[in-house]
Amino acid sequence: MDHQANTQPAENATHVGRFAPSPTGRMHLGNIFTAVISWLSARKAGGKWILRIEDLDPQRSKMEYARLIEDDLLWLGLTWDEGGTDNKGPHGPYLQSMRGDIYASAMEKLKATGLTYPCLCTRADIMATQAPHQSDGRIIYQGTSRPSHMPSRPQDSLPPSRPHATRLYVPDEDIPFSDTIYGGCTTNLAKHCGDFVLQRADKAWAYQLAVVVDDAMMGITEVVRGNDLLLSTAQQLYLYRLLGLKAPTYAHLPLICNLQGQRLSKRDESASMHKIRKTHTPEQVLGHIAHLAGLIPDNTPCTLSGLIPLFSWDAIPQKTHITI
Ligand code: GLU
Repeated sequence: MDHQANTQPAENATHVGRFAPSPTGRMHLGNIFTAVISWLSARKAGGKWILRIEDLDPQRSKMEYARLIEDDLLWLGLTWDEGGTDNKGPHGPYLQSMRGDIYASAMEKLKATGLTYPCLCTRADIMATQAPHQSDGRIIYQGTSRPSHMPSRPQDSLPPSRPHATRLYVPDEDIPFSDTIYGGCTTNLAKHCGDFVLQRADKAWAYQLAVVVDDAMMGITEVVRGNDLLLSTAQQLYLYRLLGLKAPTYAHLPLICNLQGQRLSKRDESASMHKIRKTHTPEQVLGHIAHLAGLIPDNTPCTLSGLIPLFSWDAIPQKTHITI
């Protein structure tokens, strides 16, 4: 049974930031980089900072990791005003696994637009229709299950009785947005991903739907995250439009890479908080992050309170990657 919760959008506080980790492993320097920048931006603006646990994937998410994330944030001094594993605050619950009822009501609204449809395609069906030059691993759904007339009237046909995913029709249209770091960006969803999944056949909610509903309901005004999610932004803006919700601003940060130039992953032991906490003080870690973010000229220890007045979006390098 899903937790009953407040589904009303928060009244707009001036600035509400958030950190939305997936509890699938111990955090690394890249995760902490995002957390620190988002926290500094919220604190400098005199706003709030929310911790939301994105545990939509039941196979990979563990409560034990969520608790370690909280412990690592507190070790650095990154306190949150709402959220976390004890679901403290007026817009809870703050664990996505407990928000199924809220996503279901957003799904009803999307179904009422006539732009969703059931999809019985298997992964093999989808792969078989991929363009051969699609070499970056991105999957573009070719609309195999899409009804010939979109939008279709939702009451026209009953959904299949077999387990099916629900997809959202996307228009062949450029969606422009402005990123705080990268400036003007544009994505055409038909070319970028095609009609995308809102709910999987096993009933799991898709990240794109959950993140939009949560950010809107929690009154988030600024999303700060890694630039691996830059291309998801247009999908999210399209959902904001269909749901009639106000979108936040977006700042996508350069990805932190190891000395081999690979993006840090939860498997990079040396950059994991487990290792870092054994060999460094919080001030040393903050100094390193502040230096990578262009806030201080040298890699010297510093405190969070000392960094708040130094924080500026203009300092963050406009690069796609930063090497530690
Ligand atoms: N849960 C996602 C992650 O840990 C972040 C999603 C977001 O910030 O929008 O990568």
